[in-house]
Amino acid sequence: MTRDISEQTRAPAGARDPLSILKRVYGYPAFRGSQAEVVSTVVSGGDAVVLFPTGAGKSLCYQIPAICREGVGIVVSPLIALMRDQVEALKQLGVPAAALNSSLSGDEYSAVRRALSRGELDLLYVAPERAATPGFADMTRGVKIALFAIDEAHCVSQWGHDFRPEYRELGKLAELYPGVPRMALTATADPHTREDIIERLGLEKAEVFTSSFDRPNIAYEIVERDQPRQQLLRFLSRHEGESGIVYCLSRAKVEDTAEWLNTQGVNALGYHAGMDRAVRDANQDAFLKEEGLCLVATVAFGMGIDKPNVRYVAHLDLPGSVEAYYQETGRAGRDGLPSEVWMAYGMADVIQRGRMIDEGGAADEIKRVERAKLNALLAICETPGCRRQAILAHFGEAHAGHCGNCDTCLKPVETWDGTEAAIKALAAIYRTGERFGAGHLVDVLMGVENERTLRFGHTEMPVFGAGKDIPAKTWQSVYRQLLAAGLVRIDHAAFGALKLEPEARSVFKRERQVLFRKDRPGKGKSARGASPAAAKARAALPEADMGLFEELRATRMAIAKSLSVP
Ligand code: ADP
Ligand code: MG
Repeated sequence: MTRDISEQTRAPAGARDPLSILKRVYGYPAFRGSQAEVVSTVVSGGDAVVLFPTGAGKSLCYQIPAICREGVGIVVSPLIALMRDQVEALKQLGVPAAALNSSLSGDEYSAVRRALSRGELDLLYVAPERAATPGFADMTRGVKIALFAIDEAHCVSQWGHDFRPEYRELGKLAELYPGVPRMALTATADPHTREDIIERLGLEKAEVFTSSFDRPNIAYEIVERDQPRQQLLRFLSRHEGESGIVYCLSRAKVEDTAEWLNTQGVNALGYHAGMDRAVRDANQDAFLKEEGLCLVATVAFGMGIDKPNVRYVAHLDLPGSVEAYYQETGRAGRDGLPSEVWMAYGMADVIQRGRMIDEGGAADEIKRVERAKLNALLAICETPGCRRQAILAHFGEAHAGHCGNCDTCLKPVETWDGTEAAIKALAAIYRTGERFGAGHLVDVLMGVENERTLRFGHTEMPVFGAGKDIPAKTWQSVYRQLLAAGLVRIDHAAFGALKLEPEARSVFKRERQVLFRKDRPGKGKSARGASPAAAKARAALPEADMGLFEELRATRMAIAKSLSVP
């Protein structure tokens, strides 16, 4: 390390100094944020964990030290397409760079090996499954290595949104290459993932660099799904002629949605991993190069995509996690100009996602992690507070005050003391034996006499019709919020039946107040487009019916008793 620094001072004036490289090679006048600090830490031989949001400029943080330091910088990158883009960009700048991955021909591979052994490369991109192998150790024997940079480092963690088992092997780099600086870089920085990255990659001694995850130019909006297509169309009408992405969960939905949007006059293209490669690449190319296209895609689209003027991102389905939501929405507005992100979600998403987790055949530990991730996302969807605050809080970051431009800030969500309603909703679950989903429970609360309520004898119960004072739609929302608050859970083994969580006990005992969001203006209107009158009508507080509460008291007592048994 000392040697590198002395070499640096011996080098011709300015030639190996980070700032002059930034200016001379990249043509940028100054470092941004704490790029300079990261670079100087690594140039002088230290390890670094870099947690900057998408678009902050993480690549320079390892490229410049790799150029400054003696030897080649090894960059671990999860996608061949990402490697290719970066290597191309570096070559354009006159920086000797190459990639080693499965897409190379025999000749290309030999050429890279030769350049590596001759010490001609400043940067070498490798796939994660290759970096910590004996084969790679062999290949780099006698080659001076400037640093290891592990890009998209969240892939090492199950808490991240894109876990890749191959990344786990990278923990061995510390032992295999002692004394070589190591860096982990990611735009995912929730506390769990962060700790996991540091532990799994043995970066306990590294300096950790963070920058705010706030994307002030992105306006967040989350609506309850009602008539998804019409809702989407209304959202898109605010972005005529602009470029944007619409995310869907399934390939079939991508195709259907793209086709339908075209019939509605929206210039839409599809993108998913199951498409013919040529078509998919052509669609991606068109989206990147042309303006005013709407790309309807699965999450297969996006990582490493650098289109600065994506003006909107819409989610027709619940994303995989808060991290995934942040990443996917983060593709909007990289140019810093105002952009809107919008999501429509409903109870069906929650049930479907939960089922995917429960039936996924993963280990129990992973299922728990996945469920916790789903709940964290739900909490953001259902928050009565500022969305930006909720998202940043998830990343362990406090945001002073309300942001003023998310849907909940623009149209403040009023809350109501839902303790009594929560007790009714929970009692309905309990009295019907924790065997039914929200749809049936709402029927019971609303006193709907149908085949099912009659067959199961639910019409005879005190909870039957106990919720007529509140609209059915509000009860649906109450159940979602109870889920988000961790008071109930969905049992997928029992076909989506709602079950009480131990925390529900404190509600029955009235030790805990439950605040609910007042119903949002619905019927497909976005929060911005809703009329104040409609909002007012819907926001009317549910009037507690004391008679029914008297009836319910016995039920409550019984439940409280049964739940307080440890
Ligand atoms: P990240 O990996 O953090 O998402 P990138 O490394 O891809 O971000 O950088 C995003 C964009 O910002 C790139 O176009 C990059 O050239 C540009 N950039 C990075 N650092 C600077 C800087 N100091 N000045 C100007 N532009 C920069
Ligand atoms: Mg990057």
